[in-house]
Amino acid sequence: MKRYLVIGSGLIGRLLSWRLLQAGHTVNILSSDDKMGTDSAGYIAAAMIAPATEAISGGAKVREIGLRSLQLWSHWLEELPETVFYQNNGTLVVAHSSDKVELDRYQRRAVHVLDKDVFEKINQQQLFHLESDLADNFDEAMLFKQEACLDNRQLFRILGTLLSEHCNWQQCKPIKTLSDKIIKTFIKPSSDLSEDSLDAVVDCRGNGAIFDLPDLRGVRGEIISVHAPEVSFKHSIRLMHPRYPFYLVPRPNNKYVLGATVIESNDRSPVSIRSGLELMSALYSLHRGFAEARIIEMSSHCRPSLTNNMPTIKRNSWGYHLNGFYRHGYLFGPAIIADFLNILDDQTEKIMFSEYYDL
Ligand SMILES: Cc1cc2nc3c(=O)[nH]c(=O)nc-3n(C[C@H](O)[C@H](O)[C@H](O)COP(=O)(O)OP(=O)(O)OC[C@H]3O[C@@H](n4cnc5c(N)ncnc54)[C@H](O)[C@@H]3O)c2cc1C
Repeated sequence: MKRYLVIGSGLIGRLLSWRLLQAGHTVNILSSDDKMGTDSAGYIAAAMIAPATEAISGGAKVREIGLRSLQLWSHWLEELPETVFYQNNGTLVVAHSSDKVELDRYQRRAVHVLDKDVFEKINQQQLFHLESDLADNFDEAMLFKQEACLDNRQLFRILGTLLSEHCNWQQCKPIKTLSDKIIKTFIKPSSDLSEDSLDAVVDCRGNGAIFDLPDLRGVRGEIISVHAPEVSFKHSIRLMHPRYPFYLVPRPNNKYVLGATVIESNDRSPVSIRSGLELMSALYSLHRGFAEARIIEMSSHCRPSLTNNMPTIKRNSWGYHLNGFYRHGYLFGPAIIADFLNILDDQTEKIMFSEYYDL
């Protein structure tokens, strides 16, 4: 049994702390966030796990890492004390006739990046059988079967409760930079912790690590959540658009999250009128039933991103950074955390994505 200090309690800090607990270790959490995780990007995210549709812009490696995570999610979620809404019916990609050129371009890129059997083109009749509500507005689609989504708020709540019960969790002021000295000052007040007794410190501050990781930048994303009793989609849906592809992700009880803008900026101010209008018109253009939907939330956050938009594990004098999850925290999180657990256990032969790590 080892003792770890995890700094940051967003998506990666939560998942890592839980997996360390599951492996029988003692976990201490230090974070400026509340127990719900409301300050984190992971709380705002749409939580789509889309290895193929994300690989079309991100490259084949995105699919490889994503498929590994998809495999892990199905096991990990079963180990939680409560059920998390998890839907793995796949993703449908559609475009309005005015944006058909975007769908053609997307399809050409899919053929280039992915194996042939990863997606299929479907006609209006097939679309009607899969998602009848879409067939009124769209006469063709692409279907990517191996894709999923989950309810991140449920996941955060369940992990928050579990970690509160089993970890020493301290809320702190934001930690600007990390060093051995600073870590000592933060852990001193705790009764059963001393710096010598820790086996490793792991920084999971996401955007909060900006002063320690010079290449880190924020990529702003805005989402809208709605309750639409007249709409009952069973798939995640991507709507091609010249500015950025919108995606609609189902939640339980006819709720949906539509995301997300992709804006190169560290700005965490509320959703702009322009983005709000774009998101809402995309929603309404998918299905008229969204006209009477109720807006539950409009939120923004920044995705912690490195130059190559890929995640990293970086070692230094006091411990490790896990960062750079960009728009793929749910897509990459489990795969990278599984690798990290092997690093901590010195099982280097099991590490799968070492080209992204600086150890
Ligand atoms: C709009 C939007 C939509 C997204 N949709 C998806 C999606 O569909 N699928 C997907 O895979 N990914 C998605 N993402 C990306 C995903 O949310 C991130 O990749 C992921 O949350 C990164 O996890 P993290 O733990 O590194 O950072 P975060 O989740 O942001 O967590 C960081 C934690 O550290 C704490 N912290 C920060 N600074 C400090 C400090 N100085 N001191 C102490 N604690 C600190 C924070 O309060 C927070 O708890 C989306 C992101 C956004 C913004």
